[in-house]
Amino acid sequence: MTRHLISSADLTRHDVESILATAESMHDVQRREVKKVPTLRGRTVINFFFEDSTRTRSSFEIAGKWMSADTINLSAKGSSTSKGESLRDTAMTVDAMAVDALVIRHNASGAARQVSQWVRCSVINAGDGTHEHPTQALLDAYTLRSRMGRLDGKHVVIVGDLTHSRVFRSNVITLKTLGARVTVVAPPTLMPAGVTAWSETDGFATSWDLDAVIDGDDAVDAMMMLRVQRERMSGGYFPTAREYTVGYGLTRERLERLVRRNPDVLVMHPGPMNRGLEIAAEVADAPQSVVLDQVSAGVAVRMAVLYHLLAGESAEQLPEGAQA
Ligand code: ASP
Repeated sequence: MTRHLISSADLTRHDVESILATAESMHDVQRREVKKVPTLRGRTVINFFFEDSTRTRSSFEIAGKWMSADTINLSAKGSSTSKGESLRDTAMTVDAMAVDALVIRHNASGAARQVSQWVRCSVINAGDGTHEHPTQALLDAYTLRSRMGRLDGKHVVIVGDLTHSRVFRSNVITLKTLGARVTVVAPPTLMPAGVTAWSETDGFATSWDLDAVIDGDDAVDAMMMLRVQRERMSGGYFPTAREYTVGYGLTRERLERLVRRNPDVLVMHPGPMNRGLEIAAEVADAPQSVVLDQVSAGVAVRMAVLYHLLAGESAEQLPEGAQA
């Protein structure tokens, strides 16, 4: 595996499988009463979040702490970024303190890759603009695998605001790496330019018609709903919230149709959810929903990523059953 994790395309199938195997051991740590292993003692991880986050930031912090790393959180507000310091100066300043990893979230697509070229420490992309979110794709793969075993041949449908979604981009790559079949669905206004060409190269399907996909020949194994990212929208991408829900929301009626075709179908959402818009509140809480499993997997998977990037020689310090 490389020194950094910037894109899901940085990971081979072997890399993904070994991170997910390590995450299973880390999940055991998560279930213990005393959640602490010495694996990353003496290592320092900085979580630098230039954009808001609940799940990603707290799970990276918990992951570092449970592995005994020193973790420090910085945000744009409260750091010298708010005084106008450039991203390059900020990154080089943090790196000069001899930290081991920089977990970065930034609103500019490509920011994590740029930072990785300026620093000596490992860089982990925790979401860069509308580009990628590789640890989200890993935790989604972990969640799916723990419910359905191998993903080869499974049909995963990703629905919603594809244009603004880094989760969609990383998920397509990781799901394809693991052999899943992927269909992406969005209204024409939220289907990014270039998706058709990408879908032809990487072998996934695209559609504007959610109902046709639900009722199609190919039963759905997992439905991944994406958030409508209003904070990234400048114009009107759809007429009204109601019309969006009618065309693309996972309503109770659509879930019932999915379950009739496949009683084991799973419902996913990376969060934060707009209940009542892209997913009905009762669907978010339905037995098919694995939304909270995704959150729980986030800690184990981020522990595994930190371990693969940082532990190196100290692998023997992992708890019983936690060797990669
Ligand atoms: N939490 C995810 C992200 O940061 C998804 C979202 O915000 O809709 O990309």
